[in-house]
Amino acid sequence: GSTIGILGGGQLGRMIAMAAAQLGYRCHIYAPESDSVAADVAAAFTCAAWDDAGALARFASDCDVVTYEFENVPVGPLLALAPGLLAPGTAALEVAQDRLNEKRFVTELGGAPAPFAAVDSADDLAAAVAAIGAPGILKTRREGYDGKGQWRIASAADALDEGVFATPLVYEGFVDFACEFSVILVRGRDGEVRFWDSTHNTHENGILAHSKLPAPQIVGEQLAAARELAQKVAEKLGYIGVLTCEFFATAGGPVFNEMAPRVHNSGHWTIEGAVTSQFENHVRAICGLPLGDCASVSQRIVMDNLIGEGALDIVRHLSDPRAHLHLYGKAEARAGRKMGHITRVG
Ligand code: ATP
Ligand code: MG
Ligand code: MG
Repeated sequence: GSTIGILGGGQLGRMIAMAAAQLGYRCHIYAPESDSVAADVAAAFTCAAWDDAGALARFASDCDVVTYEFENVPVGPLLALAPGLLAPGTAALEVAQDRLNEKRFVTELGGAPAPFAAVDSADDLAAAVAAIGAPGILKTRREGYDGKGQWRIASAADALDEGVFATPLVYEGFVDFACEFSVILVRGRDGEVRFWDSTHNTHENGILAHSKLPAPQIVGEQLAAARELAQKVAEKLGYIGVLTCEFFATAGGPVFNEMAPRVHNSGHWTIEGAVTSQFENHVRAICGLPLGDCASVSQRIVMDNLIGEGALDIVRHLSDPRAHLHLYGKAEARAGRKMGHITRVG
């Protein structure tokens, strides 16, 4: 069998490796930590640091294809990999690692993000609030996830610690949305694109809490436009694999929030809820195999994230005989930490 290298050791890598194993592939996990949850189900390759080009070259020499489950892998060392080995490629990382680049990129393709401005100082923030208005959200350009690295700005008078401005930031207007949804697509090596249904995504404390089908009617009305933009993003990047674009459904149409060049938490329901899951189709795409059907097996599906304390109460979760329980193998349940999820179909 062939070997798939996965950069990153989190639950997304773990679920990619599980889908790959079903198709007869072996996975190697590349991560700085030796005890990653992905390495529990695949072979671990521990690197000293993400930017260790020598370690990456040794890792890649054992792999037939290399992918990532984490978008903050430094691009530099990846540029030395054999052409075509990395899927999706480095172009997607370069765009998605920086919120400002991402918003500019999507705007050029005709997409509509919330009004935004680069911020590198308190003066920049004051100017951005004056131009865009408040409320709004100040976000670090790089490295944020699960709502980390974000500050809600209620008015121009809001004072922030001077240290906040040591990192490049972007200010964006607060979007008055009806609901949130994501477009998850898979693009094959031959350019074929397929879409999963879009769920209604709800967040608690900036962290995805639930994904639900059917989504409200407004999502259906805005899906064609959102899919068209997501497909343009994929094509412009020469993308191979699963790509996610998050949107706000608003009275004025879909507003682009952000993209993730990878499988996504809002697609976990596809494991039991779609003919082919996001994980399996990601593997199929990067391996150059025919893509599977993305159709939902029911129009009533709910995915609940298990976050923090109480998440590991396996007996309670299984007291519902219809619950498809997924635990990621994290030993310690900390507040705000994604420990697993439950999907219910039908
Ligand atoms: P993820 O874990 O999805 O990568 P993230 O840390 O990159 O999250 P965002 O997706 O930018 O963060 O924001 C997290 C959530 O905060 C959004 O899903 C949305 O609920 C809310 N949010 C972010 N930006 C805005 C905005 N401009 N207007 C209104 N709500 C927003
Ligand atoms: Mg994000
Ligand atoms: Mg997000």
